[in-house]
Amino acid sequence: MNHTQIEDFTHIASDWIWETDEAGRFTRLSPEAETFLGRPVAELLGVDRSAFAWEFEAGGLHLYRAALAARRAFRDLTYIYSHPDGAPRWFEISGRPCFSADGAFAGYRGVGCDVSEQRRTRDALVEAHAELTEQNRRFDAALENMSQGLCLFDARHRLQVWNRRYLDMFGLEPDALQVGMSQQAIIEQLVALGRYRAGMTVDSVSEGTRTSLTADGPKALMRELADGRVIAVTHRAMPGGGWVSTFEDVTERRRNEARIVHMARHDGLTDLPNRTALREIGIERLGQAREAGAGLAVLCLDLDRFKPVNDSFGHAVGDGLLKAVSARLRAQVRGRDVVARLGGDEFAVLYAVADADDATAVAERLIGAVSAPYRLDGVTAEIGMSVGIALALPEAGGTGDIERLLKEADMALYEAKAAGRGTFRLFEPKMDETVRERIALERELREALQVGRFEVHYQPLVDLSDDRITGMEALVRWRHPERGLVSPAVFIPLAEETGLIVPLGEWVLRQACRDAAGWPGDTSVAVNVSPLQLRHRGFAQTVVAALAATGLAAARLELEITESVLLDDTEANLETLHGLRGLGVRISMDDFGTGYSSISYLRRFPFDKIKIDRSFVRDCAASPDAGAIIRAIVGLGASLGITTLVEGVETEPQLAAVRAEGAREVQGFLFSPPRPAAEAAALLAAQDEQAATIAA
Ligand code: C2E
Ligand code: MG
Ligand code: MG
Repeated sequence: MNHTQIEDFTHIASDWIWETDEAGRFTRLSPEAETFLGRPVAELLGVDRSAFAWEFEAGGLHLYRAALAARRAFRDLTYIYSHPDGAPRWFEISGRPCFSADGAFAGYRGVGCDVSEQRRTRDALVEAHAELTEQNRRFDAALENMSQGLCLFDARHRLQVWNRRYLDMFGLEPDALQVGMSQQAIIEQLVALGRYRAGMTVDSVSEGTRTSLTADGPKALMRELADGRVIAVTHRAMPGGGWVSTFEDVTERRRNEARIVHMARHDGLTDLPNRTALREIGIERLGQAREAGAGLAVLCLDLDRFKPVNDSFGHAVGDGLLKAVSARLRAQVRGRDVVARLGGDEFAVLYAVADADDATAVAERLIGAVSAPYRLDGVTAEIGMSVGIALALPEAGGTGDIERLLKEADMALYEAKAAGRGTFRLFEPKMDETVRERIALERELREALQVGRFEVHYQPLVDLSDDRITGMEALVRWRHPERGLVSPAVFIPLAEETGLIVPLGEWVLRQACRDAAGWPGDTSVAVNVSPLQLRHRGFAQTVVAALAATGLAAARLELEITESVLLDDTEANLETLHGLRGLGVRISMDDFGTGYSSISYLRRFPFDKIKIDRSFVRDCAASPDAGAIIRAIVGLGASLGITTLVEGVETEPQLAAVRAEGAREVQGFLFSPPRPAAEAAALLAAQDEQAATIAA
């Protein structure tokens, strides 16, 4: 073998040296081969090269065969070798043919080299690269699927990354942006395209980014676009000096928020400002009026006869009517004035005025407009309106706040209604006193109930057939520390308005049953029941409980109701009354004849007693008509099996007249005024004793 030829390979990295003969059998292997090939060199010598467990990579085998066939050299062909230890190895092999001195082919010689380590590193790199590619693919997918637009800028304000959503949001073509573009250039482009709301300039947009980047935390910047959309932009600085901007279309959210805000401040039916909004607007208008030295009128409006329309034509017509009213009111005011709906059939108007005459003229005009007939769903409806006015005029000092003015207008409205509806009233300070008094009274009433300042007095009901007391009417009294004994005519209406009538009525009922339980024989007790009590759920239960607690027989209790009970909530009330009557409790109609359809109500419920109002007695001695009415009612009662009682008999002639008309029972000062419980009991005891004496 010629050494110089082997030297040819010295520039090739080699781990071992090999030689084959012309038939391809190993004739020489350097000792290092043993380490790499995993077999003793002695074992390999003479073995055919092709018997080796090796496999060329890719086109390696082809090159190798071609080289051998042409007796050419080959270089750096990689093959995988199955090392006997089981781990695959990558070897590179280079070789060149050798010729004998006579030029005959003598075999190949070359070097082998273990490249396993390089291969592993390369594979790891390939793998890492694949992973990175996958990660980038995911990143791109995420970027493209974001609901937000996104841009990433480097420390030099150069665009690095953006997504399609951003392009879409700002209506940019896909090629409008390039990596490395400055933020300034992008803004210039957007402004030139007219994407931002009018008035936004390159400077103002850039300024927005700057301030938002220097702000403490990420705070969204609202960008209004020319087409009405609103984009929330956040800029977040990054550690390396660049920043990420996100863009979110919040148009819908903002619209919803605006709608919610609107709903909270407007009435759903008429879309007029509500009470809350009116207060806020009122504060503003008052401030403006004060500054301008102008006047402002606050008008509280309340529809008259709205409830009957609503009840008889149904709520759809009622709603339509309220909408029509709001439209008419709106048509009557100027742009700066305000119409609000306070609830139900109550409205309010803020109107700029010069003086009181101005304000009353407005009120008159509004009443006129609302009072004209309405055509709704084929029905004609007519309503009226009452108005209360409060004024804030500059000469009056203009100290009134809106809260105060609304209260004053409301008091004036109360007076307008009391004056007979369809009219207006201007607030006067004395109205304030009336209201203050009512408020004080209400507080005292509450307290009186708590500390027990009420008393029940009793007035006898006398049977005319034997002039004996058959029952007593319970009449409540308020023993006021300063005012003395207060009449129920004063406090019952207030108790009804405030709902205190429910606990008060319950207390009276119990007290009356307790007192009556101690009376002799079957003397009954009549207790007045307010419509409000009756309407209150659980009233029947209250009655049953009072009877049970005091041991009074149901037949000894009479409940006096007025016809107003049958006017509203009729069905439920009738049910309660029937239930009570079923228990044996008797039901009387009180103040008969003061309403307008008392007689028709007699057909709706089997009353046990009719109490003819004392106004008929007052006149009956003088007027033959009054007498005739008593006669008619008594006759009607007799034929229906109803006892008739005449209230308010004060004189003998009245008694004689009532007797002549055939009434069964009477009640009045002639026999006895209402008396405290002890006196009433004494009266009954005396009568009992007298009867016993006569019987004896
Ligand atoms: P009412 O139920 O019609 O009671 C009869 C009223 O007429 C009583 O007035 C009584 O004092 C008065 N009166 C009786 N005889 C005569 C008379 O000969 N001449 C005149 N001028 N008046 C007479 P009072 O006690 O002031 O009660 C007024 C009204 O207050 C009662 O009218 C009744 O509607 C109501 N009321 C009284 N107590 C209660 C109660 O406990 N609950 C409820 N809901 N209402 C009550
Ligand atoms: Mg009564
Ligand atoms: Mg009465």
